[in-house]
Amino acid sequence: MSESSRRPYLIASGGAEVRYRSHDVIVVGSGIGGLTAALGAARKWDVALLTKSSLSDTTTFLAQGGIAAAVGPLDSPDLHLADTLTAGAGLSEEIPVRVLVEEGPDRVRELELLGTKFDHRDGQLILASEGAHSVPRVVRAGGDATGSVVAGALMQAMIAGSSVELREGEFVVDLLTDGATCIGALSLDREGVLTLYHARAVVMASGGAGQVFSRTTNPGVATGDGYAMGYRAGVVLRDMEFVQFHPTALHVDENPTFLLTEALRGEGAYLTDAKGERFMVGVHPRAELAPRDVVVRRMREVMIRDGVDHVFLDAGHLDCEFLRERFPTVFNGLGSRGLDLCHTPVPVSPTAHYYIGGLLTDVWGRTSLPMLYSCGEASCTGVHGANRLASNSLLEGLVFGDRIARDLDRLLAQPSRPVRKFRLDLPEDHRVGNTPSVVAAARRTVGEIMTRCCGIVRDASGLDEGARLVAELRESLRPPGRDVDELELFNLLTVAALTISAASSRLESRGVHLRLDYPEVDDVHWRRHVTVEYDEAREAAHVRVLGRKGEL
Ligand SMILES: Cc1cc2nc3c(=O)[nH]c(=O)nc-3n(C[C@H](O)[C@H](O)[C@H](O)COP(=O)(O)OP(=O)(O)OC[C@H]3O[C@@H](n4cnc5c(N)ncnc54)[C@H](O)[C@@H]3O)c2cc1C
Repeated sequence: MSESSRRPYLIASGGAEVRYRSHDVIVVGSGIGGLTAALGAARKWDVALLTKSSLSDTTTFLAQGGIAAAVGPLDSPDLHLADTLTAGAGLSEEIPVRVLVEEGPDRVRELELLGTKFDHRDGQLILASEGAHSVPRVVRAGGDATGSVVAGALMQAMIAGSSVELREGEFVVDLLTDGATCIGALSLDREGVLTLYHARAVVMASGGAGQVFSRTTNPGVATGDGYAMGYRAGVVLRDMEFVQFHPTALHVDENPTFLLTEALRGEGAYLTDAKGERFMVGVHPRAELAPRDVVVRRMREVMIRDGVDHVFLDAGHLDCEFLRERFPTVFNGLGSRGLDLCHTPVPVSPTAHYYIGGLLTDVWGRTSLPMLYSCGEASCTGVHGANRLASNSLLEGLVFGDRIARDLDRLLAQPSRPVRKFRLDLPEDHRVGNTPSVVAAARRTVGEIMTRCCGIVRDASGLDEGARLVAELRESLRPPGRDVDELELFNLLTVAALTISAASSRLESRGVHLRLDYPEVDDVHWRRHVTVEYDEAREAAHVRVLGRKGEL
């Protein structure tokens, strides 16, 4: 590490010993992106996969609807491309989208070869309809249990059929950099011991950050650590203002909230108001299957009109046996909460679901920091634009995870610069950190701030207030000790600040970014991206508005 490095680290060494390990490749995260990249890279290289919780504690595992891929007889990559670009509201990048839709079908077939049991009828893959897809295109498994089935196959392949060294309970705290190159990562294990993982390349597949909001469909692990780590290491992040809210999360006081997959609407379920009237008809030609941003906006109008905080998903007109078989996860999940999908409309409301932005990558998953790759929700490949097309994210993790493995084959085949003797430049102070109750309260507060000031709708005064409150909250805290909840809190605060900065910059409404003070799309000034990166001189975020192509 360069002696003059002034980049920030989240944790202090406290003078304690730091362990050392070395691998060709470190993969951070065990979701679809990380598993795919690790499996691919391990064909040639010595790979370690670090994951902060258990192997299956991922957003991927919770995915219900399925994977979008142009595999059907009525479909084509061109049609999938057109739908993705339309949903992306003018900001999806055509080149990565083309990669996604053209390579997607092969990746899905490979998943089958790996042992994934997708649902079939008469020997053909069943293809489901979802919002903004012009043809049925979504392959699924276990009815509505796609994520766990796919993750199960990938995990099995990794454990039983690969040389990947799996390390659960390793909380990656920060990336290590030597000048302008990523050379590994620093990790904290369950015993509180720090390990310096030296690697020739690092793949950040740490997922999204739904936990920065009070209500999210995302599991507890989705605290945006990869965004915050990348930011501290000077990596360019892009599109952080675009946070997708899912229209139909169960409206109960739970976190994470229980999702009612979009495929329910694909099979004909209605969105209704308190009087039982459908409110999407006439709003969009596809009614309930309009793009998610359109549905969420209309739901909000209806909720304001009726003075309520939820609407209903009504599947009562569909055959009950069919619902039970087609949607076992939803059916049983509702049943265990005393709700009945067949006979009673289910209360739903929009809930934070997916971070479109992330570490900016090219079509090989390369970030702005050499030897740091990213895929899955942690990355911003440019495919989702301002609004993600349903079921394109599992596909994105697969396609770009695979591309990273292929790129590593090329890059690591060349001799790399020998590591110089380097000094781990962590602060050495002994930190007491914050008490668990302070940390828990601060995590609740950041969620409330984000939900109120930077949620489904935004305006300048709310965003300014949000920025101020997040900064004040951070200042009220002691520097973090060696507690994972606490380190996650600091990452959440960073993600909140970056999201608010990007949202404040975009002076228009587009896709999932809805500004009350700038209600129109402004193609003339805003068909472009917002990036954020750490500015060492000012020790603050540097926000830039780019031309459409970005700068990589
Ligand atoms: C309820 C639900 C349903 C969904 N349904 C669908 C669907 O049907 N189709 C679709 O395409 N998309 C769906 N999505 C979105 C999709 O599931 C996710 O975008 C995708 O699974 C993300 O995969 P990933 O590999 O990027 O991250 P994840 O699956 O979230 O995995 C991230 C991994 O990184 C680890 N990690 C995070 N931080 C650290 C750290 N500091 N150190 C070490 N490890 C770390 C986590 O523990 C985890 O293992 C759904 C999302 C939700 C919440």
